[in-house]
Amino acid sequence: MNKDIIVIGAGLTGLTTAFHAKRQGKDVLVIERDDVPGGQMRSHREGEYIFESGPSTGVVSNAEVAELFEALQGDVEMDVARPSSKCRLIWKGNKFHPLPSGLKSAVTTPLFTLKDKFRILGEPWRKRGTDPNEKVGEMTRRRLGKSFLDYAVDPFLSGVYAGDPMMLPTRVALPKLYNLEQNYGSFIRGSIAKAKMPKTERDRKATKQIFSAKGGFGSLIAALVKHVGNENIALSASNTTVTPTADGLFEVKYTDASGNAVSLTAKKVVTTCGAYALPDILPFIPADEMRKISSLVYAPVIQIGVGIKDVERHHYKAFGALIPSKEKKDVLGILFPSACFAGRSPEAGETLAFFIGGIRHPEMLEWSDEKLTALVNDSLHSLLKYPASVKAEHIRIYRHKHAIPQYQETSDERYATIDDIQRRYPGLIIAGNLRGGIGMADRIRQGTEIGSEA
Ligand SMILES: Cc1cc2nc3c(=O)[nH]c(=O)nc-3n(C[C@H](O)[C@H](O)[C@H](O)COP(=O)(O)OP(=O)(O)OC[C@H]3O[C@@H](n4cnc5c(N)ncnc54)[C@H](O)[C@@H]3O)c2cc1C
Repeated sequence: MNKDIIVIGAGLTGLTTAFHAKRQGKDVLVIERDDVPGGQMRSHREGEYIFESGPSTGVVSNAEVAELFEALQGDVEMDVARPSSKCRLIWKGNKFHPLPSGLKSAVTTPLFTLKDKFRILGEPWRKRGTDPNEKVGEMTRRRLGKSFLDYAVDPFLSGVYAGDPMMLPTRVALPKLYNLEQNYGSFIRGSIAKAKMPKTERDRKATKQIFSAKGGFGSLIAALVKHVGNENIALSASNTTVTPTADGLFEVKYTDASGNAVSLTAKKVVTTCGAYALPDILPFIPADEMRKISSLVYAPVIQIGVGIKDVERHHYKAFGALIPSKEKKDVLGILFPSACFAGRSPEAGETLAFFIGGIRHPEMLEWSDEKLTALVNDSLHSLLKYPASVKAEHIRIYRHKHAIPQYQETSDERYATIDDIQRRYPGLIIAGNLRGGIGMADRIRQGTEIGSEA
């Protein structure tokens, strides 16, 4: 049987690709290893609580996100976070402090030293960096000072990459920030210049709002599945391999959910799974070459959904709270999804999401459920300062071995290798979060671009 396009992986990237390819009238098949679609994006309902095992929120950082929700209108609705979600909390000296959002709070915050507060005034005149592999941590220290590194950028990178600012080069991990310095000589000057730039109607769709989907991200996945069609998604597929044929097509083989061997040909194959899965899927790529892609390091993350029944609603009116590595706690951060979105918990209750592990503590992935539960129960009081009477009603633990790819210096080699393979095998596209950004908005953009060109 022939297909126009076969997509491997039914996560956000794969389903978005398939959705757009189908809109172009293409005959699409998505092959997925798991028995449910969604990849990292799954919502779990527990009574009146909604827990996300993967992402809880995204940022409408490009038009493609808004356009995807527009195209899925009627099947899923974007949920925009309440204005209070602009507030982010940072732990220092045994309590949480709001990250400054204006001049007054920037002057009075205890998070940064007085010297660094003055230092930031000189940021627009500081020399431009010359090392293309300078790490985010080094760049921050050079331009803003050590306290900004410790109490703003370190927790920010924990929240986004579950990563270490001393391991991630700004150029590949935070390219927008890198370009601000390279193109404008300063973050501040660059941000002001960018804000003044004329915006097209489409640019304005990138509202930068924090979003989820009504009912949780599972409903975005369900809407994409509805449009792609269950009949075009092969779940529980194993032993998937791709081989180029002599006539410029690809033979895709897999074992289906019933154990039958399936063989198909396609003009185009898009892989959207993690780099670690590629050696088995693309066995015709020489091992030395493949290693340049599959060596990508992933930070493990344990996400723990917590439902609390009797806590005053919106106890924390904030997006979330982050704990700098310097403070040496076992928790990376805590999100407050029910403070951001309605319908995530019972009326007087609260839904929390704890994040644990990350690149600095991969060993925590092996912690038992009992140990993780004890950590969360203790943190409700030691970190969040809830009264002793407040107890978790539900605790749900989700372990992700390959949670967030770490875009390190090896990224250049990975991108060049992918480009070279794609040039040699036209029609093969190696996509997914191994390139093009780690967040949902990046995934939607990549899937939209690939699917629309199909
Ligand atoms: C705990 C956590 C929190 C996050 N928080 C945020 C957040 O707040 N904001 C944000 O923007 N992003 C966040 N992210 C990132 C976001 O979840 C991802 O960007 C996005 O879901 C990745 O989608 P994807 O389709 O590229 O990959 P995946 O979701 O990993 O999908 C890949 C799919 O490929 C399948 N697959 C793998 N191997 C094979 C094979 N051999 N054959 C067939 N199928 C295969 C997998 O089963 C999977 O379904 C978070 C991620 C995690 C883990």
